[in-house]
Amino acid sequence: MKNPPFNYHRPASVDEALALLTEHGDEAKVLAGGQSLLPIMALRLGRPEHVIDIGAIDELKSISVGGGITIGAMVRHAEAEKSAEVAEQTPLITAALPYVGHRAIRNRGTVVGSIAHADGAAEMPAVCLAIGATMHIASSTQTRQVAAADFFQGFFTTSIEANELLTAVHFPAQSTSAGSTVVEISRRHSDYAMCGLACMIDAPDGTIVSAALSFFGVASAAVRATEAEAALVGKAPNNETFAAAATIVSNTLAPDDDIHATAAYRRHIAGVLTRRGLAEATSQIGIRA
Ligand SMILES: Cc1cc2nc3c(=O)[nH]c(=O)nc-3n(C[C@H](O)[C@H](O)[C@H](O)COP(=O)(O)OP(=O)(O)OC[C@H]3O[C@@H](n4cnc5c(N)ncnc54)[C@H](O)[C@@H]3O)c2cc1C
Repeated sequence: MKNPPFNYHRPASVDEALALLTEHGDEAKVLAGGQSLLPIMALRLGRPEHVIDIGAIDELKSISVGGGITIGAMVRHAEAEKSAEVAEQTPLITAALPYVGHRAIRNRGTVVGSIAHADGAAEMPAVCLAIGATMHIASSTQTRQVAAADFFQGFFTTSIEANELLTAVHFPAQSTSAGSTVVEISRRHSDYAMCGLACMIDAPDGTIVSAALSFFGVASAAVRATEAEAALVGKAPNNETFAAAATIVSNTLAPDDDIHATAAYRRHIAGVLTRRGLAEATSQIGIRA
């Protein structure tokens, strides 16, 4: 299907984009890679009168290093996926990106667009929660920073206001005593996950000091399994510890039933992925010393 008519804007700077957002507010949508917005418009699930294409704004196209990694709003998935700096500072992002759709989608789609879109089945919002990312948001009158935990507010909903742009996302560097991975179950590679886990475990000297279990594909938004995370702290990173955490995950997650999987199946595989993810992440500990 063709897109319905709309007014197309292609600002050359962030200031120009923010002025357009101030002027058109609720009737406007930001266009980044278009891999979600354009299908939404073609299917008439959204019908913005104004589309503000940020693809020509050079200041949004960089990945910078400093206390971790900051990814600008026009960095494509594929560029972040092959970035040596991203792999060095935040290996969880490098682990997640190959799961995001097909290569053609990653060549156009952006990391920040995926975060702004806030699909509960997408990998990057869960990665943001696991790492503790910070969102850099700007309007014509102010800039503000929002923690990932406060940013995702439910079904395709974030704290970005209609006159604001998510200009970049900052990810703190992973501790050298930590391991991390992404594991998921989907019908075919590149499909959205029926259940997935972005996990990180930090265990210097053989005792777990922190753990993040961030699930996607189980609810309207990514969710951390906080009870299971708390149960891991202070324990040795071994199969017995991981099995206990997996039981807590299966008992406490409250996934939805949908056409792709039942809630009971999702609870079961969430437990399996907990054991699998923690074992995989633990096997990396020491590698980044
Ligand atoms: C067949 C198919 C399979 C896919 N599979 C997966 C998958 O398995 N996992 C996955 O995570 N994703 C998947 N995707 C989605 C893909 O990752 C998109 O790239 C991503 O969701 C959005 O990024 P984008 O740059 O294309 O954003 P766009 O489509 O341009 O925008 C998406 C939404 O975010 C808003 N937005 C974008 N950037 C900003 C910004 N800087 N500030 C404020 N608002 C902004 C837009 O206004 C729009 O509402 C799939 C897509 C397709 C078509």
